[in-house]
Formats: sequence, C-alpha cells, structure tokens
Amino acid sequence: MASMMQPQIILLKEGTDTSQGKAQLVSNINACTAVGDVVRTTLGPRGMDKLIHDDKGSVTISNDGATIMKLLDIVHPAAKILVDIAKSQDSEVGDGTTTVVLLAAEFLKEAKPFIEDGVHSQNLIRSYRTASTLAIEKVKELAVSIEGKSVEEKKGLLAKCAATTLSSKLIGGEKEFFSTMVVDAVMAIGNDDRLNLIGIKKVPGGNMRDSFLVDGVAFKKTFSYAGFEQQPKKFVNPKILLLNIELELKSEKENAEIRLSDPSQYQSIVDAEWNIIYDKLDKCVESGAKVVLSRLAIGDLATQYFADRDIFCAGRVAEEDLNRVAAAAGGTVQTSVNNIITEVLGTCEIFEEKQVGGERFNIFSGCPSGRTATIVLRGGADQFIEEAERSLHDAIMIVRRAVKNSTVVPGGGAIDMEISKYLRQHSRTIAGKSQLFINSYAKALEVIPRQLCDNAGFDATDVLNKLRQKHAMQSGEGASYGVDINTGGIADSYANFVWEPAVVKINAINAATEAACLILSVDETVKNPKSESAQGEAAAGAMGRGRGGGRGRGMRRR
Ligand code: ADP
Ligand code: MG
Repeated sequence: MASMMQPQIILLKEGTDTSQGKAQLVSNINACTAVGDVVRTTLGPRGMDKLIHDDKGSVTISNDGATIMKLLDIVHPAAKILVDIAKSQDSEVGDGTTTVVLLAAEFLKEAKPFIEDGVHSQNLIRSYRTASTLAIEKVKELAVSIEGKSVEEKKGLLAKCAATTLSSKLIGGEKEFFSTMVVDAVMAIGNDDRLNLIGIKKVPGGNMRDSFLVDGVAFKKTFSYAGFEQQPKKFVNPKILLLNIELELKSEKENAEIRLSDPSQYQSIVDAEWNIIYDKLDKCVESGAKVVLSRLAIGDLATQYFADRDIFCAGRVAEEDLNRVAAAAGGTVQTSVNNIITEVLGTCEIFEEKQVGGERFNIFSGCPSGRTATIVLRGGADQFIEEAERSLHDAIMIVRRAVKNSTVVPGGGAIDMEISKYLRQHSRTIAGKSQLFINSYAKALEVIPRQLCDNAGFDATDVLNKLRQKHAMQSGEGASYGVDINTGGIADSYANFVWEPAVVKINAINAATEAACLILSVDETVKNPKSESAQGEAAAGAMGRGRGGGRGRGMRRR
C-alpha cells in the first residue's frame, strides 16, 4: 500500500524516449557493424565500387570510403560517429578512409561477445587503448624512412606510394601513368601547404590517357565578347596583369540621377563616362601587360580596345584560378589601375589558348615561381571523371604525406598482420581478462588482409594461415609479407612496392580505436520528443529496441 502513496518522479519531458544498458550498447554495435558491412567490399585493388543515387537524381560512383559514408546519409546516432572518422581521416591524411571504418566496426564486433557476457565496457576500453598505443609504437618502429635519397630516386619511391593508392580505384589500370603525374604535380608545388595550388580540371570526352599535366595554371576560357577573336592567342614571356575591377562601360541608367539645366551639357556627361573607361584601359595598356585577367567582367568595349592593341584579356576568371595565376606567375591582384608598377605584373614562359576536347583552355606554363600545377583530366562519362578526380586527390594527399613524413610501411595487410602478431605475443605476458581483450583487438586487425582476399575472391582462411606462419618466423624476415593480389598467395609487399605512408596506418588505428571506445562508453540514448520526427523512421526503429524504452522513468546515470 505504501508504494501506492509514493508520488511518481517525472524527470524528463513527456514523450522522451530513453534506452539504456547492455541492450543499448549491443544495438549500437550492431548498427556500426552494419555500416562496416556496407563499405567492406570496396577495400583494396579488387574492391568493388558503389553507385549511390540520391533523391535529386544525381548519381555518384565511388570507391572512396569518405565519399560513400558522406552520401549514405546515415541517421543512426551511433553509426554517425563512423561517418565522422571517415571524414576526418580524409581531411587529415586523405587515404585509408575505408580502412578506418572497417577497423572501427571490427573492433566493436570483437567486443560484442564480451559485452553480451556482462563484461564492463570500461575494462574493454582500457585494454583497447593500451593495445592501440602499443600498435602505433610498433608501426613507428617498423616504418622505413625514404629520407636521404636523391631526387630521382625519391620520385620513383613516391610514385610507388601513389600507385598503391590508385590501384584500388577505377583508374587503377592506368596507375603508372597517373602516379608519375601526381608526383610531378606535388613536386612542382614544393613545400607549400596550400593544396589548392594543384588544380584539377575536368574535361569530359577523350581517353583518360589524354589527361595531361600543366606545370602552371590552366583554366577554361571565360565568357568573352565580340572582338575576342581578333586578340592574339599565344605569347612568349608576356607580362600578366591581374585585376579585380570591372572594365565595362557603366551606363547612366544604373542608380544615377543627373539634373541638367542645359541639354547641351548631356553630351559632356556621356563623354565623361567614356573618358573614365578609356583612362582605365590606357593605364592597363601602358603597364606593358600583354595578358589582362580580371575577376570581374571585361566588357565588349574593353575587349575590342585590347584586341586593337594586341593584348589578350579574360574577364570573370574564377577567384581560385586568379589566385593560382598570381601564385605561379608572381603577380599581385590589383583593385585599381592607378600606379601599376612592374612589380605587380606576373609573367610566364608561354601563355596560350588551346583547344582541349570540346573546350578552350587558357594555359600559363613555365611560371617563374613554379609553385603550381594543373592536372587536366579527360575521360568518358562525368561520373568517371569525378571519381578519377577523387582518386587523384587521394594520391596527391598520400604523396604529400610521404614527402612530409617520409616513412612508409608495407601495405596489402602486411603491417596489420605484423602488429596483430606483436599484440598477440604481448597479450601472453599479461595476466587477467585484459589478455583476452588485447587478443581480440589483435584479431580485429586481421580484417584488413582478410577483406583484401575476400574482395579478390581468394580463400581468405588459406591466405591468412600462410601469412600468420610467415609473420611468426623467428628471424623476422616474413614481417613484410602481405596478400598478393595477383596470384592469390602471399608476397613481400616491400619488394612488390605496395607501400603506404606510415601516417595513414597510424591515423587509422588511432581514429578507429577512439571511435570504438566512444561507442562502447555510451550506455544510454535519450531522444527528446522534438527531435523524434526529424530523426526519421530508421533511427527510431534501431534505437527503440533498447531495454527500458519507456518514457522518462527511473533515470539511472553514472
Ligand atoms: P582506403 O580507402 O582505406 O584507402 P582502399 O580501397 O584504397 O581503401 O584500399 C587500401 C588497401 O589496399 C590498403 O590496405 C593497401 O595496402 C591495399 N592495397 C593497395 N594496393 C595493393 C596491391 N597492389 N596489393 C595488395 N594490397 C594492396
Ligand atoms: Mg586508398
């Protein structure tokens, strides 16, 4: 009877949905595993691509983990964490996005039986963190430096890294062709941190082998007015003037009110307009520039004026392109035509307007500062070129990373097997439950070689057994053996030049462990009534399964 007298405590708003405890954890793990299963098949050189089309009807074909995760539009709150780590891996190192998602999902999958058996997740988290620290130390220890080589040698080695990245992509068939191009582009910009100094321009049509690298800037011809055809289309060592002003006759109709007492004065006003623009144009010509670019419009009057004086001009140049010309040609963008000194003019060896496929391109090559490069990509379908661009972006990032950190590890699952072995060995020295957890972590790392085999149609169990045997060798000579994607056996990844920058692996292990630990540390999800409708059906279905899905009673918090 006494219990009936007790007033009910209402903590949360009516309609709040909470789910907590073990069931909640397991349901989160299931969601993450499901995400892992989606990207699983894209890993490696034999990985498949995903075609994703959204409600707007745009179609994307991609092999890039980050791109796929972004487009999947995941609504599950826990699984969203995996999207975030894929994105951060993409912006941090540029490659290894599938790897990071797959590893996180696998860590969680290995943790699931322990959670179901009642292990407290904090124990797991602690062991996972230890294992991750050990693993990263080991990667650093095993990494091989490419420092101290000659430029030519280094270029060759970097091209190998780029080729490894590209081998899993649509353009993998032409990886030699593109990897040298990427290395040249990265070498061209030197130590500059600004990634946008490497431009990628897409021109549909033609063969992908028709793609080429410009050691300078190239951009699509801008909209031009009559008179443009009379302008010269090629210069040797021209002076380049970069402007951020309009060279157009402003008609008086725009916001202008003029009161005249004498109609004859009208002509003087019109003349003044003309004088202003002619004055501007004269100053441009006097500067000695042969190429005039402006971010704003260059009208028909100016176009004709320049044409009469054998000067090339282009208006409405995209800001990004103009800045790249400034960086490469050594000029400064001007906001006024007064006092143009020679220092603000840029130059390049050759400027020309050229036909590329169905488009005309303005190309500045042989730029003095040499700090830019542009890759002009050709290819059949739009989707193809877009994926090629994403792949090249990965490769560019990888080469830049390798130039900066200059240590590499063997790919093809070799480094993963080696760390796995190391952790297993280490776990034997530990007493207590932690031994099991570290062992599971070690097992999870094997997902990379296993998935590489699965995706290529090899017998994963067989290959993994061979790899374990090789890596277990006392002499340590098997340490760089990984999956041989061509024969279905195992091979020395170093000897085959399947290399990855060490930072890709380090970042992937770190991010995946953090994500797994984060998800393991969540034991309760509270959904307030407002967000419910926004979250959609899918989330509600997945999350509602947790224990204690009732409304706002008995909130237990740690
Ligand atoms: P991610 O998005 O994680 O970079 P990828 O689809 O690019 O995923 O696959 C990368 C994996 O494929 C790496 O583990 C890498 O070592 C492996 N790999 C790449 N090229 C080869 C190759 N030629 N032989 C074996 N493994 C390779
Ligand atoms: Mg990759």
